[in-house]
Amino acid sequence: MSLSGIGLHTGVTVNLRLCPAPANTGIIFKRTDLDGFTIEGQSRHVARVSYATSLMKKGVLISTTEHLLSALAGLEVDNAIVEIDNLELPIVDGSALPFVKAIRQAGLRPQRARRVYARILKPVEIVDGVKRIAIYPAETLRISYSIDFPHPVIGTQSLDFTPHAGKYEDDIAPARTFGFLAEVEMLLKSGLVKGGSLENVVVLDKERVMNPEGVRFPDEFCRHKILDLIGDMSLLGHPLIGHVVADRAGHAMHAQLVAQLLRRKDCWTPTTSSSTVSKATLRRAPALVATNA
Ligand SMILES: [Zn+2]
Repeated sequence: MSLSGIGLHTGVTVNLRLCPAPANTGIIFKRTDLDGFTIEGQSRHVARVSYATSLMKKGVLISTTEHLLSALAGLEVDNAIVEIDNLELPIVDGSALPFVKAIRQAGLRPQRARRVYARILKPVEIVDGVKRIAIYPAETLRISYSIDFPHPVIGTQSLDFTPHAGKYEDDIAPARTFGFLAEVEMLLKSGLVKGGSLENVVVLDKERVMNPEGVRFPDEFCRHKILDLIGDMSLLGHPLIGHVVADRAGHAMHAQLVAQLLRRKDCWTPTTSSSTVSKATLRRAPALVATNA
């Protein structure tokens, strides 16, 4: 599948192609503009996590990977090659929906390898002031996310998400990234959000949502945090069986939780418990599905 658009932070035009990959490849990013230099979608390559999750290897950067990673994880795509010809993934409409549609158009194909889950055995908790993220043993993946922004449209929002058929696509994937008008100048000075607009970010001024179409869900903000979390947690390399509880967290804390899990191997075990579940990759490369250039 291919898709083109601009990067949220760099504003560069980029073409993206999603290709099938053999079992046990995982998700691999390939910079076609740099002789096919590859970066594995794994926690050890996480570089910057302030406003996006970027990967870096040998000085080569791939920025804002989380929404595509979320779509791949949300649809249980285990193996894929992500080809891009610039340093940042396209932001498209700010959600994971364009990626989901593209993957759906391509179709999925089961592979001759079983999915290996990370089953949580002992709690892992990270606290940073009022921010908190933790994971606990559970029978399936469950995510409980809370946010609290002192803004009349957001305030306190909480959502409990347990993925099952179609739920990620309907409830999480359409939720767009958001930002505050008051922060735009600071972000631009830091070299960020150069590609941002009302086409790809829900922007809030002091009182309201500035986008003419409004929000897609009253709690779109909390849903987007879950979208980001699903993408960031996929960098562990295994789908999770556990209950993630996050309160006012963000990319940095999501990445810390993954790093902590990789250090604390006593807290989880690889398992093929759902023995009928095989790995999956894309069936084929679909036609162009969306443009935002
Ligand atoms: Zn996001």
